[in-house]
Amino acid sequence: MEEQVINPLVIRCKNCGGDLNYDIVKQKYCCAHCGSEANASEKKAEYKHWKSLHNNAVMQDLAKVKAFACPKCGAQTMAAGEDASAQCPFCQNTMIDAEFAGNDLPEIIIPFKIAKEEAENKLKAWLAENKGNAAAKVIQNNLNHFTGCYLPYHIVRGAYNGNMAIGLQDGSTTHYPFRAYLSHTAVNASQDWDNLFLDGIEPFDFDEAREFDFGFLNHQNAKIQNVVGEALSARVEEETRAELYQTLAKKVRTKEMSVILDDNENESIPALMPVYLVKCENGVAAAVNGQTGKVSIATGKTKNLTSRWWLWPTLATLVVALVAALWIGEALAGGAVALVFGLVFFAVAHNRHHKEIVNEIITAPKEENQHNDTRTEFFADFGKGPVPTELKFFTPRRIIKLIIGLLAVTFLPLLIAIPIQILRGLPLSDIHIGYGAAWYITPVFMAIVLAGGAAKTMMYGEPLYYEKLPNGTLKRRKLPSQQKFSLKQIFPALKKGESKKGKAGLSLGCAIVLILFLLFGSVAAMLS
Ligand SMILES: [Zn+2]
Ligand SMILES: [Zn+2]
Repeated sequence: MEEQVINPLVIRCKNCGGDLNYDIVKQKYCCAHCGSEANASEKKAEYKHWKSLHNNAVMQDLAKVKAFACPKCGAQTMAAGEDASAQCPFCQNTMIDAEFAGNDLPEIIIPFKIAKEEAENKLKAWLAENKGNAAAKVIQNNLNHFTGCYLPYHIVRGAYNGNMAIGLQDGSTTHYPFRAYLSHTAVNASQDWDNLFLDGIEPFDFDEAREFDFGFLNHQNAKIQNVVGEALSARVEEETRAELYQTLAKKVRTKEMSVILDDNENESIPALMPVYLVKCENGVAAAVNGQTGKVSIATGKTKNLTSRWWLWPTLATLVVALVAALWIGEALAGGAVALVFGLVFFAVAHNRHHKEIVNEIITAPKEENQHNDTRTEFFADFGKGPVPTELKFFTPRRIIKLIIGLLAVTFLPLLIAIPIQILRGLPLSDIHIGYGAAWYITPVFMAIVLAGGAAKTMMYGEPLYYEKLPNGTLKRRKLPSQQKFSLKQIFPALKKGESKKGKAGLSLGCAIVLILFLLFGSVAAMLS
């Protein structure tokens, strides 16, 4: 008979024992084998029952466990069996006996799968490839302190309801309701280790998770969690939101939004994960995943995630310089025009970029931690209750429309001049296209307004809704309350002008007069 291994992360069907999957639309766990359903609160109650049974069983073995505290770095560890090591795995200091305070007892564990030697070889391979890196030298000198240890985590699982919020140009915010299911998001429960650094060795393979018992600690120490209570809840909430933010940002292809969480049915399961690590001076550290062998290095340096904010204004300025120089036919004049616009571009870009300084982490393999397990779905109500919906913002059709719009505005004087020339019975080749130069800068102003946030309002203020039909196809839908987006959303000044009829109204009038003057001046110049 096959040995029955218990993986508490797998949710089983009461009826047939098969795996249950969470259905975001029904908001229930569903069995693919027998079709029976269970709601989240039912499964949560079952988990609580299992948790109390498990904790009682583990508590009976508590006498076998020794707890240690490091007087130097403050870390606390636990171990079972005779060969329990009293050396601190993090700073190599001799540890003193301590009492296990009964902080959330581990409920699941992913056992070590690769031996220390293999893990060390993975790290050495990285060191060999990165000889020039200052951190590599520091780690090389500390390799003798490389040790394995189970680290405390909380595994978050459950269903969430929330809203994705996108702020628009006129100060209003649009909310897009979503539902999500996290099957297992790992949250590091060690105060002393940087989240990003430990995130670097993820993902873990949760198929190999087992019910915890102290037997696992016979040959390997485990660190006792030191983030507890409210601090832990705050960390769990923060990491859950970050996980949903990343998943949604990928889906809608923008980072300029925030995630608001409403009610949720979730569980936070204390767990131990296998990690090999070495902590060096000045924030340098290396970790190797004890299950998969993935390497994560903290270099002790910081980096700015948005350090390339200057890229698009530089390119835009070069384009303006080139276009202006060709048009005016003189490099110096082109440079002068580019200087003016370049300043505006850089002002807009600098204003919009927020510095994001994080600790520099290098991982091997380089791929980002894949969040494939987290599922999200937007919902919209087209009149018959909320249905799964796909939101589209940047469709090719919209982008083509925008470009055609810009071109139409650019060549507006020409579009007016052509019929006039035909009516006059003169050849079209007599139109002096170049004399419209004064007008040709207006699209540049439009581009600046668009870059400053108007494009965002146009795209996100009126998304395209597609209902996801049960057969998997998408059907274009409109919300009953969906309003046509108006110019007032893009130019909030128009709104103010409306209410005050004062200064803003006056400047608006001046702008219109100026635009008409430029337009007809250009038409007249072309036809002269
Ligand atoms: Zn079933
Ligand atoms: Zn220590």
